[in-house]
Amino acid sequence: MKICRFNSNRIGVVDRDEVIDVTDAYDRSPPWPVPAGDWIANQLTDTARLRDAVSKSSTRHALRDTRLDAPVANPGKIIGAPINYKAHIEEANADSQINNGTTYTNLDEFGLFLKAGSSLIGPSDRFTPRFADRRTDHEVELAVVIGKEARAIRKEDALSHVLGFTVGLDMTIRGKEFPTFRKSPDTHCVLGPWLVTSDEIPSADALDLRLSVNGIERQRSNTRFLIFGVARLIEYASSFYTLHPGDVIMTGTPEGVGPVFPGDRIDAHIASIGDLSIEVGMPR
Ligand code: MN
Repeated sequence: MKICRFNSNRIGVVDRDEVIDVTDAYDRSPPWPVPAGDWIANQLTDTARLRDAVSKSSTRHALRDTRLDAPVANPGKIIGAPINYKAHIEEANADSQINNGTTYTNLDEFGLFLKAGSSLIGPSDRFTPRFADRRTDHEVELAVVIGKEARAIRKEDALSHVLGFTVGLDMTIRGKEFPTFRKSPDTHCVLGPWLVTSDEIPSADALDLRLSVNGIERQRSNTRFLIFGVARLIEYASSFYTLHPGDVIMTGTPEGVGPVFPGDRIDAHIASIGDLSIEVGMPR
């Protein structure tokens, strides 16, 4: 199923060119204490309940008339993998504006980073660079949304902890500050257009992904080139952080990163998931 959040916090399931509104099947008064993670994702992990909600809903909207929000509203954390494609490590090591004098080697030598939840926007929003005079790059990435609370997950069990997958943009200011600072301003995390449940993505490690700016292709790769594949990345992240429903893991960007400017249009695509498009606004 393709699960979306639309028209300001309605929950929907995309059915071809329509959105089935299932919001009324869900509990909008969380218990006390509120469970860790995203409250909507906590409930969406019950796929039988979701299918039941779809069958009982009588409200459909034309997809083209809806405003799509980020498919997760309040992730407890957004985890990033900084160097997870060999060709991106090579381009980063060859570009002093990206590497700042560091020579990148292995992911587990550099570890992960966290993006602020407040950086998150969806397709109906606009990306606004923080600076007018500093390079700010696009990074297209497969984004994994967690469905179950767990820590120290084994690679063999990792995919059973996934709620679904979406397209992610890890927008990044280049410079010498720590990654978590440069990747966390408002609007610097874009997710969408929807969450595709993991049962519809049998091989997350074999998905074509690409990104273009103003119609000109900048990035094209396949998740088979991930150094830490999805399962290994979940194992690695959960060895440091307990994962909760709604947590997002950005799996890293392939080669071809480059700057964007006000007025640009970014179009990202991942096979079996869909298209995520966003405009670049004026710096704040
Ligand atoms: Mn990235």
